[in-house]
Amino acid sequence: MVSEGDVAPAEAPPPGRRISVLGATGSIGRSTLDILRHAGPEAAQVVALTGHSNIAALAEAAREFRAEIAVTADPSRYEDLKEALAGTGIEAAAGERAVIEAAGRPADWTMAAIVGSAGLAPTLAALRQGTTLALANKECLVSAGPLFIEEAAAAGALLLPVDSEHNAIFQVLDRPNRAAVEKILLTASGGPFRDWPLERIAKATPEEAVAHPNWDMGAKISIDSASMFNKGLEMIEAMHLFGLTPAQVQVLVHPQSIMHSAVAYVDGAVLAQMGAPDMRHAIGHAFHHPARAPLPVERLDLAAIGALEFRAPDEVRFPALRLAREAMEAGGLAGCALNAAKEAALEAFMDRRLPFMGMAEVVEEVLGALAPFGPASTLDDVFAMDVRARAAAGERIAARFRAAGLGKGAAFA
Ligand code: NDP
Ligand code: MG
Repeated sequence: MVSEGDVAPAEAPPPGRRISVLGATGSIGRSTLDILRHAGPEAAQVVALTGHSNIAALAEAAREFRAEIAVTADPSRYEDLKEALAGTGIEAAAGERAVIEAAGRPADWTMAAIVGSAGLAPTLAALRQGTTLALANKECLVSAGPLFIEEAAAAGALLLPVDSEHNAIFQVLDRPNRAAVEKILLTASGGPFRDWPLERIAKATPEEAVAHPNWDMGAKISIDSASMFNKGLEMIEAMHLFGLTPAQVQVLVHPQSIMHSAVAYVDGAVLAQMGAPDMRHAIGHAFHHPARAPLPVERLDLAAIGALEFRAPDEVRFPALRLAREAMEAGGLAGCALNAAKEAALEAFMDRRLPFMGMAEVVEEVLGALAPFGPASTLDDVFAMDVRARAAAGERIAARFRAAGLGKGAAFA
């Protein structure tokens, strides 16, 4: 018999914690502010909120939460931000360095939700304080995994994954029995093109790619979900976060996004975490960790759902999964090169300078051209590889555009 005295209940974090939100104006940032709102004014004291282009939303959030400082990464928007905060006593700042400085201000809990590799330096600044980092930005681990994990350990920081799959794994990981983990099952909805034939996917437009069937997310991650590069990044993220081998990371297509991922153990047990597809669950979990608290999310009605569907992924229609596995096996700076080439290709696709399948083709060519990859020993190694891979991708994108006979002002369909 299990007695209730065996395990002490987890204590809720103290009220009035100092909280910063990096990327406060984005999809994750807004959901984080919603969790803060729900937790009530006593729960947190907001230190820094950062954004980029959306000055109105940044200023409004800073006023609502009485932040100490609001920062836009875009220096050309400083005057707008200053004006929007005039008379409030809230500090305004702008530029990349200002974002890094704000991220490094003492805080007890920081949400890292800047999109892309732009999040790397600010997230590291937050991590180095040695407090709790709720990590949504996946590019930090993809580009600089071992370095990032070492920095967290050196600073004594607690890393709480917010990406829904990794948060699910974190919730069901039997930490004292880590050696008993056989593999993880990383679920993927399959995105809007899950059932499309290759010929139709090849002609997909940015508008079609951005329309995710289950999750409401930022534009870039939505398109990455359609190409399954998002899942590829998450495979690399999981490998670093949980100390797994590439073979221990398995993708499982699950169209309903109810099972957010699972851990399979050596004794045949599979422990999964389920919930409604709402990022406020993972964010709220990280906010209240190690306790659990009521969250403003829909409750699952499994009887109404009836059946859960699972399938094997298709690496022919979605080559991003194969490329991610190859990058995991190559190790070192391969993850950084994959992400940087993918970010360049994604921007070209959004600008209609590259067709949908061209994204994976460009990434594959860049990985082939830049291999073999050295270790990511310092942040400078990572930034240098990021620049090289973007440049290599840019050359290939331009060459394809010319070869397709498209000139200035023209576009792929
Ligand atoms: P959004 O695009 O919605 O938001 C991105 C945030 O970053 C905004 O605050 C944006 O500011 C800011 N930003 C953009 N460019 C820069 C820059 N150059 N420097 C500093 N800040 C910048 O993204 P999401 O919220 O969807 O995603 C954030 C991160 O979380 C990504 O890494 C994503 O992969 C990850 N993630 C997201 C999930 C989701 O459900 N959305 C799920 C799991 C992970 P502004 O809007 O003012 O321009
Ligand atoms: Mg995810």
